[in-house]
Amino acid sequence: MTEHVIGADVIIVGGGAVGTTFAAMTASAGLSPVLIDREAPKTLAAEPFDGRAFAFSYGTKRILETMGVWSALDNDAEPILAIRVSEERSPFFLHYVHDDLGPDPLGWLVESRHLRRALHDAVARSGVRFLAPASVEQDTRDAYSGIVTLADGRRLRAPLIVAADGANSPLRTRAGIAVTKWDYGQIAIVTTVVHERPHRGIAHEHFRAPGPFAILPLRGNRSSLVWVEQPETARALLALERPDFDRELRTRFGDFLGTVESSGPIWSYPLRLRLARRYVAPRLALLGDSAHTLHPLAGQNLNLAFRDAATLLDVLVDARRRGEDLGARDVLERYERQRRGANLAMFAATDGLNRLFSNDRLWLRGLRGLGLAAVDRLPGVKRAFMGYARGSGGNLPSLARGESP
Ligand SMILES: Cc1cc2nc3c(=O)[nH]c(=O)nc-3n(C[C@H](O)[C@H](O)[C@H](O)COP(=O)(O)OP(=O)(O)OC[C@H]3O[C@@H](n4cnc5c(N)ncnc54)[C@H](O)[C@@H]3O)c2cc1C
Repeated sequence: MTEHVIGADVIIVGGGAVGTTFAAMTASAGLSPVLIDREAPKTLAAEPFDGRAFAFSYGTKRILETMGVWSALDNDAEPILAIRVSEERSPFFLHYVHDDLGPDPLGWLVESRHLRRALHDAVARSGVRFLAPASVEQDTRDAYSGIVTLADGRRLRAPLIVAADGANSPLRTRAGIAVTKWDYGQIAIVTTVVHERPHRGIAHEHFRAPGPFAILPLRGNRSSLVWVEQPETARALLALERPDFDRELRTRFGDFLGTVESSGPIWSYPLRLRLARRYVAPRLALLGDSAHTLHPLAGQNLNLAFRDAATLLDVLVDARRRGEDLGARDVLERYERQRRGANLAMFAATDGLNRLFSNDRLWLRGLRGLGLAAVDRLPGVKRAFMGYARGSGGNLPSLARGESP
């Protein structure tokens, strides 16, 4: 008896934000993907308010627009019209206003539940085969194909496996891809806050010695909070009853938006940098957190991952047109060459900023204040900073240019 093996052009392991996005874009481009996640789609697509949100750059919005996903998010996305960067005990601050760059906002805040729902609709619409709950237990790769074995014994075969299986990526580990990593010794507390007065679309990044404190505008009189603390302080805050937590919150937040209180679940994430030394191995490409996780102070990790995904799509569509093997080493290396170096620049910037600001050394405090004041007074430098964070510079993939690959 011959064993039944499910065939595809690409097997995507991991149905988080990045895996679902990549599955929808590959199916729309005419490739045949299979998407696998160990959690049931019902759980993934459930949309209770979960207190989390993402800051999306202009580049990400363009990608989601071209995919036809943004229309489902437009009503819920809150535009960021200005960003105010300030520092504890410093008179200087940076003020970015969207019209410094053009008519578009600087970014958009999208609640994770809305993103999840829109992406799952896109996956269903584009006809992706989605196996879930289905856990990948094993993967092997040879000269002809990659084979994935599920916990229930089913086997899938494709020229290429994409590992979008998260920061601890078992596929990356099994492929022997080394990771540069370090622990920031910081914990991010993430929640939504409700405030009395409107935020007027202004995002605040306030640097304190233990770590940044970011207030990002959501729809209505609500903001998403990313509050970074040393582990001991974070654990003490997380152990508090809600009224006590809110009292501590108000001492850090201030009263510039009137009375403020937390709403919905409170999440915490130990902050670690992880950079895969390679993005590819024979018949394997890494995407999303399996390729990189960076400090959330610039809110860029997912934005970079969407750009990685759109670039990998361009490479694969181009390879298909030329009749090349989608999992061939030289094909995959085109993706790595285009993205790894570009991402390293963003890592260096966010890591450097975190080191510069998350400490209390007096001479650094002076330098930071001067730096912020200087950048604020040099429109060219400021525009360059903003263009970079917007995801609108460099070598743009087709979807980010509003084109099909
Ligand atoms: C505090 C904080 C704030 C952040 N804010 C922002 C922001 O504002 N903007 C931004 O761009 N980014 C932000 N990020 C980063 C962003 O959250 C992540 O980069 C993103 O969620 C990663 O998505 P992913 O799909 O790569 O991985 P995941 O969401 O981890 O998904 C991996 C999936 O793989 C599945 N899986 C794993 N192993 C298997 C297996 N063996 N078989 C089957 N399935 C498997 C899991 O079930 C899971 O669904 C933030 C991160 C933190 C910590």
